[in-house]
Amino acid sequence: MTYKSMPKVELHTHIEGCAPPAFIRGLAQEKSIDISGIFNKDGTYAYRDFAHFLEVYEAACTTLQGPQDFYRLTKAILEESASHGVVYQETFISPDFCGGGDVGAWREYLHAIEAAAAEAERDHNITLKCVATCVRHFGAEKAKAAAKCAAETKGDFVTGFGMGGAETFGKPADFAYAYDMAREAGLELTCHAGEWGGPEMIADTLRDLKVTRIGHGVDAIKDRELVARIIDMDVVLEVCPGSNVFLNATGDWPDHPIKSLRDAGVKVTVSTDDPPFFGTTMTHEFDMLAETFGWDETDFKSLNQTALDAAFCDDATRAKIQKRLDT
Ligand SMILES: [Zn+2]
Repeated sequence: MTYKSMPKVELHTHIEGCAPPAFIRGLAQEKSIDISGIFNKDGTYAYRDFAHFLEVYEAACTTLQGPQDFYRLTKAILEESASHGVVYQETFISPDFCGGGDVGAWREYLHAIEAAAAEAERDHNITLKCVATCVRHFGAEKAKAAAKCAAETKGDFVTGFGMGGAETFGKPADFAYAYDMAREAGLELTCHAGEWGGPEMIADTLRDLKVTRIGHGVDAIKDRELVARIIDMDVVLEVCPGSNVFLNATGDWPDHPIKSLRDAGVKVTVSTDDPPFFGTTMTHEFDMLAETFGWDETDFKSLNQTALDAAFCDDATRAKIQKRLDT
């Protein structure tokens, strides 16, 4: 039994992190960029730990140099996602990697990515929305520039604002200005927290950045009172079990807290984060959850429903995707 064909909703992916290694190698060859050191002999991405993963990730990103590269990347990603039954996907796109934080350049990247998304919707029946994202370890000033880019382009495609990068860099409050700017522009908010930073990082993020979703959030399981508050505040967790297992952020699959969090009443969803970096796909995530926890179609339907209810999209899109889930 595999869940490959089941319609899926995925909320937590990073656009560059979805880049198939063969695609990045091809771009590097076209541009004569030597990044051979970031690949294993079998062609997969090579790194030792989370800090090194970020280095490899940024090296891979050096091949993505213009809007046209992101256009091609987006097409490659959505074709792959659709082949795993994903009908709606949100992806983090960083104005830092797409135009260096300049609003005009960011618009050109978005134009290309949105065009690719429209073609993928036509050809593969998958919908993409963008969560514009600042990179935490680039600091608060760059986060403000990213938030300005997000605020200026808020619309049908750019619907949310988030923060990724090294979670233990700085404090959530350092980024409150950027989040305030995004909130005032009407963007929906999420932030990576509680992957590496412990339950206190989740608590501080909820208090200082007032997000409605948390990226990962698995460390919440270490604090009962926080779990109760997350339920009370109706916060949704974008859980990426395969990523956590691969990077050793949690224990192995049987010890992954997604089951305990869900059993406690927390709204959890399932995503792949950076699938080719972690050797995963949405099919693999569902299959592993079925194998590990005995979850079945009813469980996965409810996880997809939670994800759609928490999606950063307009009502028309939500209604359209709901039909796909219901059939
Ligand atoms: Zn992530």
